[in-house]
Amino acid sequence: METENRKDDTHVSTDKLDRKWIDVNIPCSAACPVMTDIPGYIQAIKEGDYEKAYHINRMENILPGVLGRVCDRPCEPACRHGWDGLGDPVSICFLKRAAADFGMKPVCAEIKPNGKNVCIIGAGPAGLTAANDLALKGYGVTILEQFDQPGGMLRYGIPQFRLPHDVVTEDVKSITDLGVTIKTNVRIENTGRIEELRKDYDAVILAGGCANPKHTTLPGVDSKGAYWGLDFMIAANREELDIPLENVIVIGGGFTAVDCTRMSYRMGAKKITLAYRRMKKDMYVGAHELEVMESEGIDTISLVSAVTILSNDEGVVTGVEFIHNSINEERKIAPISGSEFVMEADTVIFAVGQEADDKVAETENAVRKSVFYVAGDFRNGSSTVIEAVADGRKVAREVHMQLSNIKGFKETIHISEVKDTGRKRDYDFIPIQHMDTTPMRNRQIKNMEVETGYSKEKSVTEAKRCYLCHYNYQIDISRCIYCLACIDVMPVDCIKMAKDIEVTEDGNLNYVETKNWSEVEAITIDNDKCIRCGNCVRACPVDCISISKYKLETEEEK
Ligand SMILES: Cc1cc2nc3c(=O)[nH]c(=O)nc-3n(C[C@H](O)[C@H](O)[C@H](O)COP(=O)(O)OP(=O)(O)OC[C@H]3O[C@@H](n4cnc5c(N)ncnc54)[C@H](O)[C@@H]3O)c2cc1C
Ligand code: SF4
Ligand code: SF4
Ligand code: SF4
Repeated sequence: METENRKDDTHVSTDKLDRKWIDVNIPCSAACPVMTDIPGYIQAIKEGDYEKAYHINRMENILPGVLGRVCDRPCEPACRHGWDGLGDPVSICFLKRAAADFGMKPVCAEIKPNGKNVCIIGAGPAGLTAANDLALKGYGVTILEQFDQPGGMLRYGIPQFRLPHDVVTEDVKSITDLGVTIKTNVRIENTGRIEELRKDYDAVILAGGCANPKHTTLPGVDSKGAYWGLDFMIAANREELDIPLENVIVIGGGFTAVDCTRMSYRMGAKKITLAYRRMKKDMYVGAHELEVMESEGIDTISLVSAVTILSNDEGVVTGVEFIHNSINEERKIAPISGSEFVMEADTVIFAVGQEADDKVAETENAVRKSVFYVAGDFRNGSSTVIEAVADGRKVAREVHMQLSNIKGFKETIHISEVKDTGRKRDYDFIPIQHMDTTPMRNRQIKNMEVETGYSKEKSVTEAKRCYLCHYNYQIDISRCIYCLACIDVMPVDCIKMAKDIEVTEDGNLNYVETKNWSEVEAITIDNDKCIRCGNCVRACPVDCISISKYKLETEEEK
């Protein structure tokens, strides 16, 4: 069921101003690396249509069950609901998870095979996304994966208490259902082997991720009881790590570091400290990750760098010598001489970054010779799941352009007139809906998911908070009779009297506001303030206020 009730046919625009309208007025989508239609799926949840919400998400997100749990959420700080005076941002990511939890359905697509075949090395988010997009275009796609299961860091890096393996399996299945073949336990060792593969396939994409931990040469790093963060997580996730943990120090400030602390907690460590060389706010993880970590009793010390790993006569770790750092206005850090101090520990985990495997990395030359394409973290360095998905899509498009007759891809804006959005003023007073979590007494159960998901009821309540920024309210000033009925019923300061209309350098219209009735030249709606309640439309006696819905699509350019 759609509340919006379309008036007439959709108008398809390629006008730069319409494209810009989307970036300016739908800030959540604009901040998402794949431009997910966020208000589109939130509105579907509000209407209880989880299958539609899942489908909208699946178009861009590819892995909605996964991303609904672990996306680093660049959309949420951009959300209009979080702007000054408007409260908390909408829980966009939790709603994505609700769409997957309650609405996941196989992708129905009519695929016409085009006779061409592509090989992808690596079954992480980048490889899987490229496979999905190319399969939908009719390519035969084979993924070669060195591990025994697909998923990349989704399965072997991110722990199950944040992302259960069955969620990864389900999202991967929605891609293999399209006819993609995944061959596991196949490792491609070097560029020569890729060149051989190139003879059997029309294109080869290397999406090998950053599967090697970055090493440091700190004194004592080889002591017994010192581990590399990624190796620690991979072994723990593969159930291959059985070591007694008591007093653990994790050095680093990203996803892997935080996961190492939380995994140590689940493996029985009594005291765990995260040590980071910069400030807490500089850590490369979401604020919510740090909150949950700290709720599990893990301490953080910031602005410190490790100097030496201390060990006893048997070469077993006994502690870490640190030095305090200062940070200047340009964000540069410097050690403060004489500020060294020692912290005791029996285990030290270095989680100071990951890098691509250089055995298969003579990439620059090979890419230049068009032998193969490179995607995801392998190309960009360690990033995030959604960045890897975006890059997988980008590279799939490059391959498709190379192997087909299309000129490229173009963005179109689909604009449809609607009568009502179904949004009400009351929704502005709904508080943010918090995620339920596993009680603390169960947190040490290693693979038990901590965030348990929204109920249907909670997800509908949270969805109502969204302003549905994809609706554009406009007054046709040629028909407006300046009766001000709309201003009488406005719930917030959303309709303005303007004395002049200026055209800005980038071609936008800027209304110059006035409070003086004798100067009024136009009545205009401020979409930044509009809460999409429709009061003005209902009050207008001459029906001169229109509502149109904006949706971005990408189409092939023939
Ligand atoms: C511990 C940890 C926690 C993280 N947490 C988050 C998080 O919460 N949110 C977030 O957004 N991001 C997180 N990340 C980052 C995110 O997982 C990665 O950015 C993302 O998985 C990169 O995708 P990718 O497809 O490029 O590479 P990967 O996921 O690394 O996948 C690459 C795949 O290629 C395979 N491969 C590599 N070399 C070969 C070869 N020679 N032959 C065959 N196969 C090969 C690998 O086995 C792997 O399966 C985390 C990373 C780690 C390590
Ligand atoms: S209110 Fe809704 S549509 Fe607007 S920015 Fe936030 S999530 Fe996006
Ligand atoms: S729909 Fe009309 S009355 Fe309601 S907030 Fe928007 S401009 Fe104001
Ligand atoms: S109610 Fe309609 S006619 Fe009256 S001022 Fe508003 S837009 Fe103009």
